[in-house]
Amino acid sequence: MIQELLDKAVNTHQLKHGELLTLLQTEDSAPLLAAADSVRRQYVGDEVHLRALIEFSNHCRNNCCYCGIRRANRKAVRYRLKPVEIINLGQQAAAMGFKTVVLQSGDDAWFDVPRLTYIISALKKLDLAVTLSIGEKSREEYQAYREAGAARYLLRIETTDSDLYHRLDPGMSWENRRRCLQDLKELGYEVGSGIMVGLPGQSLSSIADDILFFQECDLDMCGIGPFIPHPDTPLADYPGRAFDLSLKVMALARLLLPDINIPATTAMETLNPEGRIIALQSGANVVMPNVTSPECRRFYELYPDKAGVGETAENSRDSIAGKIRAIGRSIGRSAGSHKSKKS
Ligand code: SAH
Repeated sequence: MIQELLDKAVNTHQLKHGELLTLLQTEDSAPLLAAADSVRRQYVGDEVHLRALIEFSNHCRNNCCYCGIRRANRKAVRYRLKPVEIINLGQQAAAMGFKTVVLQSGDDAWFDVPRLTYIISALKKLDLAVTLSIGEKSREEYQAYREAGAARYLLRIETTDSDLYHRLDPGMSWENRRRCLQDLKELGYEVGSGIMVGLPGQSLSSIADDILFFQECDLDMCGIGPFIPHPDTPLADYPGRAFDLSLKVMALARLLLPDINIPATTAMETLNPEGRIIALQSGANVVMPNVTSPECRRFYELYPDKAGVGETAENSRDSIAGKIRAIGRSIGRSAGSHKSKKS
């Protein structure tokens, strides 16, 4: 029964809600993870694309109940890099051989259109592909960043259960987040979304809906990570930390969207010292080493004990690159765009 479902997924890349649910409920995940690994090899090959992650501000106007940098967390030490510092980090990343930078922050209005377009244009001059992960903006803002040269955007839907979303993200609207993903797609971005796994009140049935949503959105990238409770948030006492289930969800995303880019997330590494390597062998093909300066990266604390906090940019890159080669994979030499988008 399980093998039949997996054969169907490997051959057709289609599964119904009930079939996804069966696979999510199956205890022995090894056949699923192996199927995702083989689809990954067939569609995107053995290259692992590295993206330099710059966490440039932890100021945030939102109050997401799971997130350590939520507005109401008075204990969070806030920082904001200057545009020139961000560009310098981009320069270092380019010198280290990265082809892509990912700019991530809280939802911080200080970074407005003039400031961000200046930064994006400067990074483009360094021949870097620019990915933004800066939250919900108006269509006009997204358009300005696209015109300045940003090519990709990451915005997780977090959950497709809109009731759960509204409970966990007070003051925000699920429909607006959906609207953002739609605008980004229409503006020609490569669009990444994804979810957290193991949120309080999240059912397996809702996770099956999430996976079908990824397919419906025709995503180019999909990031999946376990929810890890942060002590200074309203969800401090919830268990979370669902490593095995996160892997399964990621593997199912690979089966249904065979040629997209899927990162092995830092949250997975945080729960298991080999988490990213395990993820790379279960469907993932991207890693995002952190190049933020060590003084700041510890304050970008979405969840506690984040992997790699004590490392420098070089450590972050070298330790993962060595492990990638040790499992017989290679480091991508190109910008690593979504395959079907290559001209
Ligand atoms: N402001 C941006 C970036 C958010 S941080 C945005 O809104 O998109 C990036 C991601 O970290 C979030 O989308 C969320 O999925 C994840 N995250 C936040 N808190 C977390 C936690 N406690 N455990 C695991 N992942 C978390």
